[in-house]
Amino acid sequence: MGKGSNVQKAQQARERNQKKLGKTEEERKASAAKAKLDASAYMCKICRQTFMVNAKASLLYLHVTAKHEGTAPDACFDSLVGFDPNDPDGEKAAAAAKAAGGAVKPKKASKKNDDLDALLSAGLKKK
Ligand SMILES: [Zn+2]
Repeated sequence: MGKGSNVQKAQQARERNQKKLGKTEEERKASAAKAKLDASAYMCKICRQTFMVNAKASLLYLHVTAKHEGTAPDACFDSLVGFDPNDPDGEKAAAAAKAAGGAVKPKKASKKNDDLDALLSAGLKKK
């Protein structure tokens, strides 16, 4: 019995974990709703064109200058209040904050996950 049953146990454990990871109908609906919201996270107040949640301020600003030339950026998007065309994505401001020693997030060590991945792939190879 030694090795054979261990492999079987590992296989069963993997199947259990995969079931746990699977999404329920409710979770699927929730993520679909979230995706819908994300897809229209920004809406131009003038022409109602929508932009993805990950659209950068520079992209929104491009819309303003391309479609509504001469309009204030914040007349199209609330998120562009205080927008600086010379620093469209706030990178300069972030760099300045970093240089000043503020707003630097400590990097979280992901070593634990790496170890787990190594263990998992080692387990998968051992068929
Ligand atoms: Zn527009």
